[in-house]
Amino acid sequence: MRRLRSIFLLFLIFCLISSCVVSDASSKIPASFHSSDIVKNVPYRYNLRVNPDNTARMLRETREAKGQRIGVGDKAVIALRFDDWQNTFRAQVFPELKKRELPASMALISEFQNIHWGAQCTWSDIIHWNRGGLEIWSHGTDHRDYKDFNRLVENIVGSKKEIESHDIKVQGFILPGVTKYYNQRPYGLLVRPEDYSEIPGRLIQQTYALSEAYAWGSIRQLPSTRYHGANHLTISDGWVQYDEIIRSIDEVIQDKTGLELMIHCGNLGLPGNLSLEDFLKVLDYLQAKRSDGILEILTPSGLMFADHSEHRLRLLDLDLTLPYSAKPSFTPDRFQNDGSQLAASLRLSGDGTSQLKLEMDRLIRKKADGESYEALVQTAGSTGKLTLRIHDGRGNLLSKTTTSDLEDNGQKRLVFIIPPGCDKITLTITAESAQPMDLLWTKVQKI
Ligand SMILES: [Zn+2]
Repeated sequence: MRRLRSIFLLFLIFCLISSCVVSDASSKIPASFHSSDIVKNVPYRYNLRVNPDNTARMLRETREAKGQRIGVGDKAVIALRFDDWQNTFRAQVFPELKKRELPASMALISEFQNIHWGAQCTWSDIIHWNRGGLEIWSHGTDHRDYKDFNRLVENIVGSKKEIESHDIKVQGFILPGVTKYYNQRPYGLLVRPEDYSEIPGRLIQQTYALSEAYAWGSIRQLPSTRYHGANHLTISDGWVQYDEIIRSIDEVIQDKTGLELMIHCGNLGLPGNLSLEDFLKVLDYLQAKRSDGILEILTPSGLMFADHSEHRLRLLDLDLTLPYSAKPSFTPDRFQNDGSQLAASLRLSGDGTSQLKLEMDRLIRKKADGESYEALVQTAGSTGKLTLRIHDGRGNLLSKTTTSDLEDNGQKRLVFIIPPGCDKITLTITAESAQPMDLLWTKVQKI
């Protein structure tokens, strides 16, 4: 009996030692393992069941922030997305987007300054682009495969916190393409809808209302009901040439559907890829189709809520041909109306001394803070220079456009993003022209 007990004890000790060896070895070896393996290391505070209530709440809040839906009427929708490559974006792309007042998104890793493609940029660049109409999506922390669950959490949850700490609203998560090192299926790959049931996909759905990956086709039917896994068309990397890109845009316009075009700025102009010149021609093409009134350019988060209704969230919608008494938010001494209340339009003197200033407030209650908008001004076919500025409640300039190139229909546009927590903004319109400039209407609407 005693002998039996000591054999049993010896056996127990052997089991203990061998299990120690195994677990020790497995923690050291960066061998490939399936995402499901890391569930063993999930700290107890992470409940990896997707909580439907939480997911529904995040979606409800996001939908509210978009004005429930973004009605584009009979038009098609294109959205632009820029992944990584902040240095090139600053030097070659952002000025071109502003020149055409095109909104877009950026997939941003929170540690962008540690990577060669972003090392020359700072958080103040990111904030500047953001206020000028570039919405930010998290792209993880470092664009690398993750060693363990904690690093996965850092990539999905930590990156969002870091970006938000710089006063920027994060619209969603964009799957980074990582080189496999620790995992067979980094992030669960997210190439099929069911991949979202693995741990990384579940963590993404718990943290973000929206995410983009490869789980669905790139053409978006409007309205879309898919908030996770939407795909895109990459136009910078040589997979499609200029003519095919234009053909894709034309098809989307014809079918009145939606499409997101993705660009790696640093890949433009490399052998076999789209040249920078052709890329700018694509931007010109988009701008021309928008001017023609057959295409809307929305932000990528806006595209997810677009439909063919006329419903559109507007912070301002003002007929400037009405008499003074019907223009409640005007300050009459700030502009001249040709000395008469009977003029058919609001008239700016053209010498830059008269300006129209319009306030929009209670933005937090409207869930408008952190969100992208466009200001539109319609002139009576005037020529000259029109300047649009958006300031926050403290008088800081958020976004500005000035140009003599009014679009064909005499419109001027300014895209911008309201900072998180900002409750009031002001739109200022100034004219510099040989003749007084007549304004017919102005709108500030959700994109
Ligand atoms: Zn990337």
